Amino acid sequence: MSIQQNLNNIKATLPPQVTLVAVSKTKPVSDLMEAYNAGQRIFGENKIQEMTEKWEVMPKDIEWHMIGHVQTNKVKFMAEYVSLIHGVDSLKLLEEINKQAKKHNRIIPCLLQIYIAKEETKFGLDEKELEEILQSEEVKQMDNIKITGLMGMATFTEDQNQIKQEFQYLKSIFDKVKSLSIANCQFSTLSMGMSGDYQLAIACGSTMIRVGSSIFGGR
Ligand SMILES: *Cc1c(COP(=O)(O)O)cnc(C)c1O
Repeated sequence: MSIQQNLNNIKATLPPQVTLVAVSKTKPVSDLMEAYNAGQRIFGENKIQEMTEKWEVMPKDIEWHMIGHVQTNKVKFMAEYVSLIHGVDSLKLLEEINKQAKKHNRIIPCLLQIYIAKEETKFGLDEKELEEILQSEEVKQMDNIKITGLMGMATFTEDQNQIKQEFQYLKSIFDKVKSLSIANCQFSTLSMGMSGDYQLAIACGSTMIRVGSSIFGGR
């Protein structure tokens, strides 16, 4: 099926509160343009250099989401244009995003990544580290970031029950922090679910799914 057909099929099943991020990493601009021409305006990339190259040549009404792990020294390359950074997992990274956003006179929305999988290779904060960041005095002083939600990645497994438990766990943390009143924080986005598990993620309360291969084909 074509990229346009894949997109339309997925979008037809999404509840209205769920935002679709089309994950276009490794795919050529021509593929992204096919999605763009089918109406898609939000794209997710996991490498800053690749995202910046695509941003430079593509229409300027696109929202670019950084979904990968972010190295502090590379934040400056996307600060001018990035719409949402999904994988924020340290105070140090938040500080750098705040600093670079200030240079461009912007407020950059960020999601805090929570570690929910049983895999050593995945990144993210545990509940205690999340609490430390949310309660820190530093975050309250960061006028050029806004923490708008949480992100998580489930274990890569066939075991639906395991994935469901991990999504439910993330949703329970989201519900806890949502009611907190903290400067520069407003928890409205729960980013969870990819090609293999987005239906389950939505059933567990996801408001933003990151779908790559089901739109663009395998990588
Ligand atoms: C690659 C990637 C996705 C999309 O994965 P698919 O299985 O191709 O849908 C989603 N989230 C993150 C963080 C990724 O790196």
